Amino acid sequence: MSECIFCKIVAGAIPCTKVYEDAHVLVFMDIAPISPGHTLLVPKKHYESVMEMRPEEVAAMFQRVGVLAGAVKAAVQAHGINVLQNNGATAGQVVPHLHIHLIPRWPDDGLGFRWPAKKAAPAVLAEQAEAIRANLKA
Ligand code: 5GP
Ligand code: ZN
Repeated sequence: MSECIFCKIVAGAIPCTKVYEDAHVLVFMDIAPISPGHTLLVPKKHYESVMEMRPEEVAAMFQRVGVLAGAVKAAVQAHGINVLQNNGATAGQVVPHLHIHLIPRWPDDGLGFRWPAKKAAPAVLAEQAEAIRANLKA
């Protein structure tokens, strides 16, 4: 048995409050919710990050995200919902089994959302776009 906590949840070795499952994903309540209704969607197969998955696996994982986000938002009568997916400790990932957060939001819920955006020169954007294209694999 893998030491991964989410693999153990998928295998039923440790309990979770399950919302939904199909052949590809398991959806369950976050044990330490950031807001009421905070839900996690995980692929049943272990991947640390979205970058390791084949495109069809990514498609299978994201296929239900819109419907689930709508159901979570309606269930707790939220005003909005963040769909977040962290890759790597530097990006805030704590559990190294890929997961998508569905985090309901309300006005003045105290969570905020402020990333310090800065204008970039068009030449810098063009250079970065070119570097990304050069790294694109089919
Ligand atoms: P991350 O920071 O890796 O993006 O998010 C990990 C999330 O998993 C956290 O929100 C945390 O509360 C949740 N979590 C960690 N361990 C467990 C667990 O054993 N059960 C459930 N249901 N959620 C967990
Ligand atoms: Zn795992």
